[in-house]
Amino acid sequence: MSYIVFDLEWNQPQDGKHSDERELAFEIIEIGAVKLNDDFKLIGKYQQLIRPQVYQEINWRIRKMLALKPGELSKGKLFPQAAQEFLDWCGKDPVWCTWGPQDLTELQRNMAYYGMEPLSTGPIRYMNVQKMYGVLCGNCAQSKALETAVDELELRKDVPFHRAYSDAYYTGKVLARIPEEIRRDCVTYDLYHLPESRKKEIHINGPEGECLITTGYNDREVLLRDPHVMTIQCGKCGGITVKTAVRWFTANNKVYFAAGECREHGYIAAKLRVRKNEQNLYYAEREYSYTDLTAVEEMKQQRRDALAKH
Ligand SMILES: [Zn+2]
Repeated sequence: MSYIVFDLEWNQPQDGKHSDERELAFEIIEIGAVKLNDDFKLIGKYQQLIRPQVYQEINWRIRKMLALKPGELSKGKLFPQAAQEFLDWCGKDPVWCTWGPQDLTELQRNMAYYGMEPLSTGPIRYMNVQKMYGVLCGNCAQSKALETAVDELELRKDVPFHRAYSDAYYTGKVLARIPEEIRRDCVTYDLYHLPESRKKEIHINGPEGECLITTGYNDREVLLRDPHVMTIQCGKCGGITVKTAVRWFTANNKVYFAAGECREHGYIAAKLRVRKNEQNLYYAEREYSYTDLTAVEEMKQQRRDALAKH
């Protein structure tokens, strides 16, 4: 098994807007990657500039950050050729690793734009090293910059920052410092493609509770009425439906909360976030976590506040 740690640089229109939804919001102009073995030792390098086809003019911020020489990109390869070469270099079934959640999505988006065969028809499990580093620091909520992590870990800065290769290189160095249990428990899925059916929905079970990522729904209201999604069950009892303690409510129509009570295992807090994907399908990310009466009382109060507002 090999780990492919990669980073992309992309360009975007000068005004930050793209006129047509079918167009690419971010056009990849560089791919950089390192291949690591099971011991996280470097066993391969990949670096390729890409000649832009969608946005000929390079956004000044990007030009400045990447320190591109004039005409450098015009020597690059066309995206489909570069992406295919990159995928061939990666080999079969690699473990994808990136800093942050965006690169794997943008890679797939650019591949789709050029009509390339998709990486997968469903969600892709990958390692979000930024998220893992956040867990290591005991601070999941705040996303740190790669350079901050490199500084905090006192890693040697032997390659200049902000090029695709160097960012992949340092991400690999940070990954090598992530303890095994964090790598194992910090599970992330790229949802460029949602689970194709209910059978293929994603269930992530942890010691604190469980997480479900549903398949896509055309209608948001249908999702919010689906008992499969909205019924609270106790995982410890093997999915037995529990008594309602707090009925579902929302303060912002994005995140919904509820609570249930299992006779044996106590209170279960449910949190559900509704999102819309690339193909305009609605899906939910639902989390259950075991909790206590104080938290449930607080939730009851929040529900009263939310209902009073509407
Ligand atoms: Zn139970």
